[in-house]
Amino acid sequence: MSVVNIALPLPLAQTFDYLLPDNGFPIVGGRVKVPFGCRQKIGIVTAISTNSKLALDKLKPISEIIDNKSLFPNSLWRILNWAIDYYHYPAGEVLFHALPALIRQGQPAEMALLKEWFVTEQGKNILLDSLKRAPKQKKALTILLQGPIDCHKIKEYQIGNSELQALRTKRLCDLRLQKKNIYHWKYNLISNCKQIQLNIEQISAIDVICRNDHKFTTWLLAGVTGSGKTEVYLTIIEHILAQGKQALVLVPEIGLTPQILARFQERFNAPIEVLHSRLDNKERLSVWLKARCGESAIVIGTRSALFTPFMKLGIIIIDEEHDSSYKQNDGWCYHARDLAVFRAKEEKIPIILGTATPSLETLYNVKRQKYRQLVLGQRTGNACSSKQKLLNLKELPLIHGLSAPLLKKMKEHLKAGKQVLLFLNRRGFAPVLLCHECVWISECQLCDHYHTIHQRQRHLRCHYCNSQLPLPNQCPKCGSIELIIVGMGTEQLETVLLPLFPEIPVTRIDRDTTIHKGTLENYLAQVELGGARILIGTQMLAKGHHFPNVTLVSLLDVDGALFSSDFRAAEHFSQLYIQVSGRAGRACKGGEVLLQTYHPEHPLLKTLLNHGYMNFANQALEERRQAGLPPFTSQVLFRANDYNNREAGFFLSQLYQLLDNSPLRDNLLRLMGPIPALVPKRGGRFYWQLFLLHPSRFQLQRLITAILPSINKIFHSHKVKWSLDVDPVDY
Ligand code: ADP
Ligand code: ZN
Ligand code: ZN
Repeated sequence: MSVVNIALPLPLAQTFDYLLPDNGFPIVGGRVKVPFGCRQKIGIVTAISTNSKLALDKLKPISEIIDNKSLFPNSLWRILNWAIDYYHYPAGEVLFHALPALIRQGQPAEMALLKEWFVTEQGKNILLDSLKRAPKQKKALTILLQGPIDCHKIKEYQIGNSELQALRTKRLCDLRLQKKNIYHWKYNLISNCKQIQLNIEQISAIDVICRNDHKFTTWLLAGVTGSGKTEVYLTIIEHILAQGKQALVLVPEIGLTPQILARFQERFNAPIEVLHSRLDNKERLSVWLKARCGESAIVIGTRSALFTPFMKLGIIIIDEEHDSSYKQNDGWCYHARDLAVFRAKEEKIPIILGTATPSLETLYNVKRQKYRQLVLGQRTGNACSSKQKLLNLKELPLIHGLSAPLLKKMKEHLKAGKQVLLFLNRRGFAPVLLCHECVWISECQLCDHYHTIHQRQRHLRCHYCNSQLPLPNQCPKCGSIELIIVGMGTEQLETVLLPLFPEIPVTRIDRDTTIHKGTLENYLAQVELGGARILIGTQMLAKGHHFPNVTLVSLLDVDGALFSSDFRAAEHFSQLYIQVSGRAGRACKGGEVLLQTYHPEHPLLKTLLNHGYMNFANQALEERRQAGLPPFTSQVLFRANDYNNREAGFFLSQLYQLLDNSPLRDNLLRLMGPIPALVPKRGGRFYWQLFLLHPSRFQLQRLITAILPSINKIFHSHKVKWSLDVDPVDY
């Protein structure tokens, strides 16, 4: 008798055994409905075997088979199954995560076939004049003679249903199912947008990738900002589409980069689908179905678009591969870039990781010759690199956070009709509200975090848990009315610029000003128009926008990032610095970058400004090697949190014991913790961490696999929420 193993969307590692139903045979990778407790649940068949750990007479049969075909192409199925093991995450949750919500809920995984009206043989032969007493029917038939019409679209042609029914009764036209609309590879793919003369570096990168288009290779396209990486992607995709294959493009945050989508649409006369957070479930399902049946040519999306099934995938492109938004930080903590490389390998296709600031992981893989590096070292066209300078704040007084030399430069650039970008990675009006008399500071009750002052809404807000309070008039502790605002956020910067530059329009772009759909696009359009203007932005602005008229960029306050305890802080700071400073002088207008700092002697700043990112990165890699940190070692992080700050730490120390006493533990394993998280209290819960480092990924994985079944037996384990992050990026 056959036993069917089924993954259910539950936070449990095991799959569940059921018996075959009377009618039909389930498919591995397809959905079935099964009785679970007193309810019916949808599950995914993971295997069909002959025996079960349970007695066969205890097993229940499957109640319904939903799919007669696997939902996952083979390559995707293998990747997901690999990921279940690698990330130690429940099979059901991983498989369901990779599916659109409506599929999870049981909707059909086939395109609803549309019907169309067409002219019968009889209709083709009839004289149109014989319909002259029914002018509407005559008109309808005339239109239909030019080609079949989708039955949902008859209104667009101003044809009514009654005429069509009348013609049908006369057997002059009829309804039929539409043929599946497989994407038409023979289209003239290239729309008539202006062609750019590519430079030698671009041509040779395109050439070598296209020559290797039929096999798996991971390419690092390391191109300084404005070196024409996107142009390289477009040309290669064109080559892939011409062979009848599809392309997948991942970007960090699509809502923030409407420009990249516009460039694709302008370039290709082919169906492009976009997956982003603003789609509803129906739209998501439609993208999924179209890619799967080969109707779409290109899918552009964020992290989870990686799980889109394709009919014939030809290439994967990861833009801004260093961006940490590719890593999921809760639930199933997968890294979309790493899984994408694995997917490309399974699909036997090339993958391009594009960035101006490669992650150290990627550079390490280049050094190990796992990835191949291509360099675009020149800015395109006549754009030139910008002058960079440190402004030492120890010697310079500040006017509202802006030093005198910066103000002077701003005036110069604005006077020349150029644009200035001020980077301040702190939204809101100010980060701290302080009582002048008793030094009370307004802090979130639920988090280890000060309240940010939002002046316009007149409230205090916690940026961790989003809780809000009205702005007080008096100190709640001593009653004093001398409350002072400390520090500067983007909202305040906007108000102080007004009197300093009364004639100059200011555009502030951060999460608070772009909540509403379309506002970002509006701002970007205003900026594009040119003319003297000041832009204020948080790191949102650093992501891929192209501002042709910005010639001066200043980073106002980034010192915090120089002294973080996170060993990745230097890497992230350097990437941010290069991305932000790369916004200056994208067209040749003599770009300048000014960085205000109290620590001009800081070695990181020196290396970055004098020797560039790649030098920094090589040095940082060497330091990581010496310290035995990733990517030279594998890292796993256990997180735990509780409500009373007792159980989580205790749970992790018992876990420590368990690991330490395991027969699989060797002396290359480093166990660190339990320690409180970087932000120890968030949303009323206390966060603790335990780190594991091992030079061998294999050994580390083996240890974790062995230990996991015992974790739930740890005393009080049910009182904490715990999770496991393999290759963590944020702590
Ligand atoms: P990146 O993605 O590396 O930041 P882009 O591909 O966005 O660079 O190119 C920056 C700008 O330069 C775009 O406006 C693009 O159209 C233009 N560009 C790209 N390649 C060339 C080229 N070879 N000659 C002139 N302009 C180019
Ligand atoms: Zn007070
Ligand atoms: Zn809070």
